[in-house]
Amino acid sequence: MVKARVLAIANQKGGVGKTTTAANLGVYLAAAGRRVLLIDMDSQANATSSLGFDKHNLPRSIYNTLVDGKALAEVTIPSGRDGLDLAPASVQLAGAEVELVPLMAREHRLARAVDKVRDRYDLVLIDCPPSLGLLTLNALAAADDVLIPLQSEYLALEGLMQLRQTIDLVVGHVNPHLQIFGIVLTMFDGRNNLSSQVQEEVRAHFPGELFDTVIPRNVRLSEAPSHGQSIREYDPTSRGATAYEQLAAEMLHRLALSSVEGTVAGPEHTSGAPSA
Ligand code: ATP
Ligand code: MG
Repeated sequence: MVKARVLAIANQKGGVGKTTTAANLGVYLAAAGRRVLLIDMDSQANATSSLGFDKHNLPRSIYNTLVDGKALAEVTIPSGRDGLDLAPASVQLAGAEVELVPLMAREHRLARAVDKVRDRYDLVLIDCPPSLGLLTLNALAAADDVLIPLQSEYLALEGLMQLRQTIDLVVGHVNPHLQIFGIVLTMFDGRNNLSSQVQEEVRAHFPGELFDTVIPRNVRLSEAPSHGQSIREYDPTSRGATAYEQLAAEMLHRLALSSVEGTVAGPEHTSGAPSA
């Protein structure tokens, strides 16, 4: 039986493109024929609203799994896109950071829930909040891999080193098999020297981890969420759309190389052929 590979999309820095990456990758991976679950672990619920759901009007959310112990299958909803399910966030999640503190196995609650649905999906993506609190810790405990969106800007590398240290701590204490799956540069501006400089620095320090695909700064990517649409629906020929489609293909290629059974990604989907 195929077991889902679980990826946490994390960076403690705010506004670097975590949610944009999680939601659009989820959509393109599903469009490539994978069964995908997107879990929104941020109380801002941006991933939830960017896919068209009202965070104030959901019967259940990931909060109920974390705090009340509800099965993930009970909070998960179809996203309205073939192959993509959503475990939405709600505003209640803001309290979870504190409410989780006295609970048993507080950092493993998501992991236990995710393990029970691994046979239903090929990929589980977890959108993390911009902090290293209990919600992110739950995501890192549940994940096999971390995917790091990195904004191409001054001091990007310092933040990356800090995140690396946190991941090492998580490996030591919470989840020994967690690994960095890859780093993707976001809001990349080819005309700006700084962007290229960051790219070179990251490549030098983290060889093999930087994705070849870079996500350009593209206004269409920032407009799509307010329409409740992914970039694949909002403007499928934009540069942002092409980049996320290509990132999904590169990711599937990496997954095929690294998965033991090679079942997560079939070769037919590694070409990045348009599927819209
Ligand atoms: P937070 O830490 O608050 O959760 P985040 O890391 O999830 O933020 P996003 O919400 O994905 O970051 O992006 C921050 C803002 O930048 C959003 O308004 C988003 O629409 C915009 N944005 C993200 N990626 C791009 C891009 N490649 N080009 C232009 N705008 C982008
Ligand atoms: Mg976000």
